[in-house]
Amino acid sequence: MFEALSHRLSQTFSRLRKRGVIQASDLEEALQEILIALLEADVALEVTKRFVEDVRHKALGQAIIRSITPDQMIVKIVNDHLVSLLDGEIPLPPLSAVQTPLKVMLVGLQGSGKTTSTAKIAYLLTKKSEKRAVVASTDVYRPAAIEQLRVLTQSVNRAFFVPATASEAPLAIAERALSIFTEQRADVLVLDTAGRLHTDETLMQELKTLVKSVQPEELLLVADMMMGQDALNIARAFSARLPLTGIVLTRADSESRGGVALSMRLETGCPIRALGTGEHLDDIEIFNAHRIVDRLLGKGDIVSLVEKASEVLEKEETEASMARLNQGVFTLTDLAHQLKQVSKMGGIASILKMLPGAGALDGLVKKQDMDDQAIARQLAIISSMTPKERRYYKLINGSRRRRIAAGSGSSVQDVNKLLKNYEKMLEMQKKLRKLQKRPGFGDKLQNLLGKERV
Ligand code: GDP
Repeated sequence: MFEALSHRLSQTFSRLRKRGVIQASDLEEALQEILIALLEADVALEVTKRFVEDVRHKALGQAIIRSITPDQMIVKIVNDHLVSLLDGEIPLPPLSAVQTPLKVMLVGLQGSGKTTSTAKIAYLLTKKSEKRAVVASTDVYRPAAIEQLRVLTQSVNRAFFVPATASEAPLAIAERALSIFTEQRADVLVLDTAGRLHTDETLMQELKTLVKSVQPEELLLVADMMMGQDALNIARAFSARLPLTGIVLTRADSESRGGVALSMRLETGCPIRALGTGEHLDDIEIFNAHRIVDRLLGKGDIVSLVEKASEVLEKEETEASMARLNQGVFTLTDLAHQLKQVSKMGGIASILKMLPGAGALDGLVKKQDMDDQAIARQLAIISSMTPKERRYYKLINGSRRRRIAAGSGSSVQDVNKLLKNYEKMLEMQKKLRKLQKRPGFGDKLQNLLGKERV
């Protein structure tokens, strides 16, 4: 029986809560619990140790926020760090959205689910479009492997299977598949390769030759989620010799806790591109880091715990940015935070209620500036600014505006507009603050609002 990490940690911290301060020694106990929980979830020992070190770093530097308990705080740190490791710095577009023509080649151990995944990927990449796939197998060693793929491919509507026999050389099959792919001007080539029970040099040499000839844009390592602690060795063996671009994890429908995902991701540095969730063609899913992390940490209860912690943290962040607003130090980072809230709460009306005296802004902020797309554009603009620019917007001169526009994929006019609105917001707040200090504040506020609402 697995014990959820949240439960383990709340036990560890129950004594601590009475004391209220996190000591380094208490943190050690918590880290030990995290280590055990991740090992139980099949994360490789080396990866787990590295991870625990990262968490130690983050947790020690982090102040425990008043309204959440230390165990919730640590679980949140662990959760967020896992998600960011699994997603990587720049999440790629899903495999199904990658530009064609696209050559995909699958490698992995025998029995990992390579052949099934080859057909699934051909299905995934052609099912919702007019795209056509060419599918082939170079597995001349496993009896019936080529036939197995032929049969599976029959169910993929828009796929052509390249006939081959076990007496051919793998390279000859790959070259034939490649020329059919080119001649037919197909959109996707999906190539299955041979696997062994263990990695060996002969296999690696063969795969290298195939990669050189086919030049796949996606070279995917297929691995079984149930392989447990072996994941690291397999990832190491393949990534040391082949220019992998991604990972496909099969048997995600099993009881496995998913630790293999983390080991594989960290060892190869490659993103997980898809999950196999069963034996049928359509049992394939685009990878979602949050779902794997929920599984790693102990399912449902962790989700609600993390959500609760996030809510509290966000509330505190909102309160802090409101306080800054009242003191006249409302930066563009605060604005970005508010915009995120708007998009979460689904509308300008709710955010206006949160801002002190923000009724005044009602006339200034056009509703169409606050739909999802517009908010995303404004957030992109703010995130293309340097931290200094976000703090001192007056630094943002013409050339900086051009840089920010280019960096956020928007126009200089968009940047100008955002800064203008921000400036108006600051002015408005300044007027309000002055008024608040005087007697008869209510009447004057009414006047001011009347004037501004043209
Ligand atoms: P290969 O030797 O790597 O080509 O592996 P196969 O594609 O032949 O798969 C081996 C077995 O695993 C077959 O019985 C597949 O039906 C099964 N399999 C493959 N992927 C999945 C998956 O995602 N979930 C489950 N439950 N079974 C799978």
